[in-house]
Amino acid sequence: MQLIIANWKNNPKTLARAKSLFLSIRQRAHKLKNIEVVVCPPSLYLPELSVGVSSLKLGGQDCSWKDSVPLTGEIAPSMLKSLGAEYVILGHSERRRYLQETDALINRKIKSALKGGLKVIFCVGDETRNQIRRGLDGIGGAGMVRLAIVYEPLSAISTQKGSPVAPSELRQKKALIQNALKQMFSRAVAQKVRILYGGSVNEKNIKSFLGAAGMDGFLVGQASLNSSRFLRLLRACERG
Ligand code: PEP
Repeated sequence: MQLIIANWKNNPKTLARAKSLFLSIRQRAHKLKNIEVVVCPPSLYLPELSVGVSSLKLGGQDCSWKDSVPLTGEIAPSMLKSLGAEYVILGHSERRRYLQETDALINRKIKSALKGGLKVIFCVGDETRNQIRRGLDGIGGAGMVRLAIVYEPLSAISTQKGSPVAPSELRQKKALIQNALKQMFSRAVAQKVRILYGGSVNEKNIKSFLGAAGMDGFLVGQASLNSSRFLRLLRACERG
């Protein structure tokens, strides 16, 4: 089953537009089979989107590295959970680059999120092996079952004027990630953890990734902000 994560970043700019986008995806996505879709809106919008029955899951885009201490401006994993989020994205390349998030901080956030009962979408980029080694340090096999890894180099992100990684290169990246997981944990963990790709994936190029890259899903930014484009992408994933 493909795991598709919609990363809305700080979009849309109003709650009304966020609700309208979400509802229009939700109305048409409920018939999709064999595909897990997680929408990650700005966390402010979560309470308005988590009402009613939905085949779409929800996620946050970040969380604090501690749940139980006062931290100005931070959002604790338990708060995300109470607003209906099942997942949280951590280690996104934009936060690593522009907010100087380090591997050590991301490691603390992953632990905090898992402890708070969230599933983690852990993003790694060019320094894949080191980011995995440091980011997952001290996390047990039980935690790994609730974690997916996304390979998403900053240079591939559409809004950074990036271009997508070649599907043939992704196969090698997946093998490298699995190898790192095998060394750190076990063969079973390496096979179980879902490995996704993110970076300029859209409704037009999705087929090339599905066929050639062997990924377990995708993190989608820009193309998830238009319901028609996103639905076309989802239907292509459903067909495989
Ligand atoms: C992202 O920033 O997580 C992303 C994958 O964006 P895009 O699909 O727009 O490249």
